[in-house]
Amino acid sequence: MALINTGYLEYEELSQIQKLPSDERYAKGPVAVIECVQEIPCNPCEAACRFGAIHIGDPITNLPTCSHDKCTGCGVCVSKCPGLAIFIVNKAYSENTATVAFPYEYMPTPEKGMEVTAVNRKGEEVCDAKVVNVMNPAAFDHTPVVTVEIPKEYADEVRSIKRL
Ligand code: SF4
Ligand code: SF4
Repeated sequence: MALINTGYLEYEELSQIQKLPSDERYAKGPVAVIECVQEIPCNPCEAACRFGAIHIGDPITNLPTCSHDKCTGCGVCVSKCPGLAIFIVNKAYSENTATVAFPYEYMPTPEKGMEVTAVNRKGEEVCDAKVVNVMNPAAFDHTPVVTVEIPKEYADEVRSIKRL
């Protein structure tokens, strides 16, 4: 499949390739957004989800699909994806803000409470952000999952932060 750009996705093409959460599901709280669009032999996300929300099946090159109603937004799959292609988006975080959780494999690891700069899929600065959670248990095998709070209008755009 040929993508519009090399190295990053446009939201428009993502929404054509992957089934994204509905507005109704977003209103219920955090949910996985799978941005995996290339048919590669890979499936640790499927095995990682103990709620059975992610399905790849056979053949292993199928794109993953997510049953958003089964997803609790726990974030485990984010740490297990070698493609760094899964995010947890919570558009119901507060009246005006959302959160986005993403894998962050750089040093130093951000700390809760830090003020940072959020970036989009292309690495361009989008807005100020606040780190509200960092999950880094041994089971995540050195792939911390960082959650930032951002203005709600950027929830589909922000996918990481500028390196510290
Ligand atoms: S966030 Fe948790 S519940 Fe949702 S798909 Fe990932 S592992 Fe499953
Ligand atoms: S683990 Fe990541 S890269 Fe592999 S199939 Fe799942 S979402 Fe795609």
